[in-house]
This record gives sequence, structure tokens and C-alpha cells, in this order.
Amino acid sequence: MQTFIKKVTDESVFEAVNILNNGGVVGMPTETVYGLAAVGTDSEAVKRIYEVKGRPSDNPLIAHVHKDYDLEKLVFVEQDYVYKLIKEFMPGPLTLVMKSKGVVCKEAVCGGSTLAVRMPSHEGCQKLLRAIDKPLVAPSANLSKHTSPVTAEHVYNDLNGKIPLILDGGKCTGGIESTVLDVTGKVPRILRAGLVTREMIIELVGNCEIAEHKEGDKVKSPGVKYTHYKPNCKTIMFSEEQLDLAKKCYEESIKSGETPYFMCSDRVKNLLNDGVNVLNLGKSAEEMAANLYDKLLEGEKKADIIIAISLPDEKGVNMGIMNRMRKSCG
Ligand code: AMP
Ligand code: MG
Repeated sequence: MQTFIKKVTDESVFEAVNILNNGGVVGMPTETVYGLAAVGTDSEAVKRIYEVKGRPSDNPLIAHVHKDYDLEKLVFVEQDYVYKLIKEFMPGPLTLVMKSKGVVCKEAVCGGSTLAVRMPSHEGCQKLLRAIDKPLVAPSANLSKHTSPVTAEHVYNDLNGKIPLILDGGKCTGGIESTVLDVTGKVPRILRAGLVTREMIIELVGNCEIAEHKEGDKVKSPGVKYTHYKPNCKTIMFSEEQLDLAKKCYEESIKSGETPYFMCSDRVKNLLNDGVNVLNLGKSAEEMAANLYDKLLEGEKKADIIIAISLPDEKGVNMGIMNRMRKSCG
């Protein structure tokens, strides 16, 4: 199968809708990362997503809908605070897990009773969702375990020959996957950290827990138990306190004839010697989130080893960045 990349236009969206309505899957842009979409009510199409990605069959998918779609067609809103979250953060990088009404097929939720729903703010994605007017289920559009794609080219590099069309909506501005929030209980619970932070949720609804994943627990969000986001090169992670050790690691790598790259914040870059190879994540947390996967995917092309330097804390957006950095480089 030949894979085409097409900029989001009326024509390419029309083509994507046709493919999707005929049981196919397409790559689509969102503000977080690129998604691999199928119609959520079509079991065969949904199975195709798992096949194409090599995704474990116990890891459920997020249903994406347009701004004016009534979420209550898909899920039961059981807690009043959910309306506040919807009003404040939708459309945007927040996914809500609620009791499913069973409209989205069981293959997408892996037989579970809940469904994760999201309204992307990306204009190109909205255009597609509005045109099809059905929930599109989509995981990130990468091969399972590999780094998530933030450009159409990244999707192409992983899925070339496996899907017919990638809608190109430019580089994702968010850069890490949505916050996944379980809102079935009295207190909302973060299952996966993202750009909508715990602090933002507490400010709005007064309370927010973070799901802990202990050995032996029944995993509430299966995705978090897998190795994830791995670039195709060696990786190692140091804290800022271990910077001298990280520098030694860099020198050792050079001596053994490899090409090492540091991956760090702009601030830490200034603590490194001039002339060393750096994948600079940038200054603010938002900028670093937006650059993380792009830098990992750039790194795997030119580095034998990525030496990542962790962030000094896990406040706000840093929590989501560190969650990904640990899984990709730890
Ligand atoms: P991905 O689309 O690859 O970014 O992964 C989606 C994330 O949402 C994974 O971590 C899933 O485990 C999680 N997720 C999707 N549906 C549910 C659900 N019904 N309950 C809990 N977590 C979910
Ligand atoms: Mg993913």
C-alpha cells in the first residue's frame, strides 16, 4: 500500500472521511501528538489500528469528537464537577474516562466498562471530526513502544506502507499526549500526566489525586504499564546533581568512537562545555514538552546514545515531561 501525506484541505478531509467510512485507518494531526484514527463504532476498523501499530490488545483507545458533539451520547456523566472540566478544558489536551454507553465498540475499550473521550483543539483535526460527525478512536500514530510522532513525517517513518493517508496539520504544538483523568469517582484522578496539570485541576474543582501504580495492582490505565516512547538508539538518564557523571559518560562514549548527544533544558545546556552535542529542549516547560519527542526522534537519527538530564522537579507540566523522559530514557 502506498502512503500519501496530504495537507489538511477540504479535498484531503473528504478523502479521509471516505477511507474511514469504508473501514480504513488514517493518520491525523492533533495539538498533542499525531493519532491513528478509525471510526469508533466499526470493530473491524478498530482491530486494524491494533494490527498496524502492534499495540497490545489490552490497551484501550481514546475516542475523539468535535467541539459541538454531545459527549453524553457516548458516556454517562456521573459527577457534577465533570461539567466544570468540560467547560474549562474542552476542546484541549484533556481526556476524561467515564462509564461507557457502549456506542463505541468493545474492541476500542478492550472489553472494559469505561470510555476515554477527548475533544482536540487542533483546527485540522476539528475539520475532520466535524466532517465525519462520528467518534474517531485513535492512539498515537507510531509503532507500539516507539517515540510518539509530532509531525506527519514522523508518522510516515513508522507507518509507511501500512496506511493509505496521513493528514498533515503541521508540527504539534503540545508535544506530549493528553492528560488522562478518571472522573468516575468523587475525586478526579490523573492516570497519565499531561499539559492540563494537577494544579490546574485542583484550582478548578478543588481536588485531584494521582493514580499510583504499584506492583500487583489492577492497572486502571493499561497504557502506563508498557515500555514506551523509546527512540531507536541507546539512552541513559542522569539528574542535574549527577551532571559530572553525565559528562564522564559523554567522554567515555566519544573515546569508544560513538556519537553521544546530551538532551537537556536550555538552562542545563549552559552548564555544559562549548562544542558538545546537545538536543536542546528549550526554556519553559511548555516549550520542552513541545520539543521532547521531536528531539528524541532527531536524536535517534544522529546519536549512538542520548544522555538525558532530568528536570529539577515534577511541578505542573514537568510531571508529564518527566513521566515520558523516564520511560524513553530511564
Ligand atoms: P495513546 O492513545 O497511545 O496515547 O494511549 C491512550 C492512553 O489512554 C493509554 O494510557 C490508555 O491506557 C489510556 N486509556 C484509554 N482508554 C482508557 C480507559 N477506558 N480507562 C483508562 N485508561 C484509558
Ligand atoms: Mg501512544
